[in-house]
Amino acid sequence: MSKIVVIDPGHGGKDPGACANGLKEKDIVLKISKYAKDYLEDGYEGVKVYLTRSTDVFLELSERAKFANNKKADLFVSNHINAGGGTGFESYVYTTINGGTTEKMRSAVHNEVMTVYKGFRDRGKKKANLAVVRETAMEAMLLEHLFIDTKKDADFLKLDDNLKAIAKAEANGIAKALGLKPKTVKKEAPKKEAPKKDIPKKDGKLSKVQVGAFADPKNAEKLAAELKKKGYKPFITKE
Ligand SMILES: [Zn+2]
Repeated sequence: MSKIVVIDPGHGGKDPGACANGLKEKDIVLKISKYAKDYLEDGYEGVKVYLTRSTDVFLELSERAKFANNKKADLFVSNHINAGGGTGFESYVYTTINGGTTEKMRSAVHNEVMTVYKGFRDRGKKKANLAVVRETAMEAMLLEHLFIDTKKDADFLKLDDNLKAIAKAEANGIAKALGLKPKTVKKEAPKKEAPKKDIPKKDGKLSKVQVGAFADPKNAEKLAAELKKKGYKPFITKE
C-alpha cells in the first residue's frame, strides 16, 4: 500500500499571506510545496503526494483539512513563511500532542529541514491550536520557513536553489517519517560482483594474462592467494 501525503501551500489567491522585501508568502510556499512533491515522488517508492492547491487560488483552512481527510492521507504538512521581525525556522503540531507518532514524524521533518537553515536560528518544535493541524484526522504539522520581513531570511528565500534545497530536505524528512524506501537508480552497476579481470574478446573467448612463473609451486600458490584477495580469479597451471 502506497503512503499518501498531503502538502498544503498556505494562503493563495486573495490571501497573499505575509508580504515583505518584495516577496509574497503564498508564492514561496507554493514553490516549496511543488518541489517537495516532485522530490518525494521521483526519489521514493510507494508514495503519492497531493497538494491542497497547485495554483494561486484561495482555500479556507477547513477545506484544506477536509481535502486531506478525504484523501485518507497518512501525513499532512502545511508550509508557511513567518513574519513579525524574528529569524529562523520553527514547526508546529496540535496543542494536545504529547510524544507519540506525530511528535516522531515532526522531529524527523523538522531536523531534516533544519539542516538547510545553517546559520539561522532553530526556534524549536512547538505546539499550537492551528485549524489545519486540529481538523486533520492524520498526523499533521505546520512549518514556518524563516521570516519574510527579516532581510537575511528574505534574501535566502529569494533564491530558487534555496527553495529547492528546503523542499528536498522536507521530502527527505517526510520519507524518514513514513519509512519510505529511496528509488533505486536503474543504470547503477551491480555492486556485489567481483571486478572482472578477464577481458572478453569479440568472439567470446577470453584473453588471459600470466602474472608469474615459479620453480617452487609454493611461491605460485602465495601469489595466487594475494591475487585472490585483490579480487582476481587466479589459477595455477603446470607446464
Ligand atoms: Zn502563513
